Amino acid sequence: MRSISILGATGSIGSSTLDLIRRERDQWRVVALTANGNVTELAKLAREFGAEVAVCADASRLEALRAALAGSSIAAAAGEGALVEAASRPADMTVAAIVGCAGLAPTMAAIAHGRTVALANKEALVSAGEVMTALVTKHGTTLLPMDSEHNAIFQCLAGNSHKDVRWITLTASGGPFRDWSLEQLGGATAAQAVKHPNWDMGAKISVDSATMFNKGLEFIEAYHLFPVGLERLRIIVHPQSIVHSMVEYRDGSTLAQLGPSDMRVPIASCLAHPARMDTPLSDQLDLAAIGELTFRAPDEVRFPATRLAREAARSGGGIPAVLNAANEVAVAAFLAGQIGFTRIAAAVEEVLCRYAPQAPAALDEVLAVDGEARAVAHALLAGG
Ligand code: NDP
Repeated sequence: MRSISILGATGSIGSSTLDLIRRERDQWRVVALTANGNVTELAKLAREFGAEVAVCADASRLEALRAALAGSSIAAAAGEGALVEAASRPADMTVAAIVGCAGLAPTMAAIAHGRTVALANKEALVSAGEVMTALVTKHGTTLLPMDSEHNAIFQCLAGNSHKDVRWITLTASGGPFRDWSLEQLGGATAAQAVKHPNWDMGAKISVDSATMFNKGLEFIEAYHLFPVGLERLRIIVHPQSIVHSMVEYRDGSTLAQLGPSDMRVPIASCLAHPARMDTPLSDQLDLAAIGELTFRAPDEVRFPATRLAREAARSGGGIPAVLNAANEVAVAAFLAGQIGFTRIAAAVEEVLCRYAPQAPAALDEVLAVDGEARAVAHALLAGG
């Protein structure tokens, strides 16, 4: 039996992870489950899986969480400190699936305790970059990529040397607005943006997918996870989302990982690593039914996000954290109906022009850059 903690248990990735664990209930012991404010669902999951502790980040929800757990032996806690404490508890695997830079401190805490961390929370790695990878090295932590593209690359790299890699190609679905004109994009609504054609995901990543910031963040994530150099990373649009990414080697061989568009496949790859496990998707790749797999170059005029991310990765230091924070603020404003769709990338570019911090060397410095970039973004969107 292995132990597991899930940070962001009530989200899309958290639910998919628990769906797999539910099918192998006798093989897992659940240590900590966390959420932000959804304490009803958190308590329900904590009871079902017999968690040791349930933590909500929103401290004002602690009484509600305690009430929802009344009569059980599950400990309840709330706030950022409690999140970090939960992430530090001994567990064989910690799934980092909080959305946004809010997941950074608990993810770093899990890494610092030297266990296996399955990383879905890409914003944490984008923001912390070398600060996180240095911690992974220092503590000898196994960092497993849960993001589908990075999990695909991880699988394609198995048994090979980075020095033999010619290209790592990240595939992108292109999102729900892939074929929209610039004029149409100007009128895109939040309801349209969160309706991804292939994947069922949380609201923030769905908007990121529509703007292509998701692929931009993944580009920076790949740069840190697979140190082959920025010049060997590229992005290709693949509308069917069947090929999840590819690695081309210097002998001309290209290895690709294929599968249905369901996060339970890369999640299962992490949970069972280095072995394999059954999933309910085990026989769902019907290539004859799919018929065609198509590819095209990204359009960085309609979707500038990948250009901005590439430039941020090239600049390095604190710039990716600024890009990420500005994007989080702009996406929240778009979802709240305060700004239009094309304003997201424009606002991120403007924040990058206004704020160029020193390279952060530790977690508190990354969080300071994140906080300042958010303040600049809020001021910009407020018309400042
Ligand atoms: P969701 O929005 O569905 O879930 C987010 C989770 O984080 C919830 O448990 C939520 O709690 C919690 N949370 C939100 N805000 C905070 C906060 N401030 N502090 C602590 N916890 C918080 O997101 P997804 O599951 O879609 O995505 C999670 C991460 O995984 C993201 O980084 C995303 O980019 C990445 N990812 C997601 C994929 C997907 O298919 N969904 C694919 C690949 C990567 P509550 O429910 O209480 O709000």
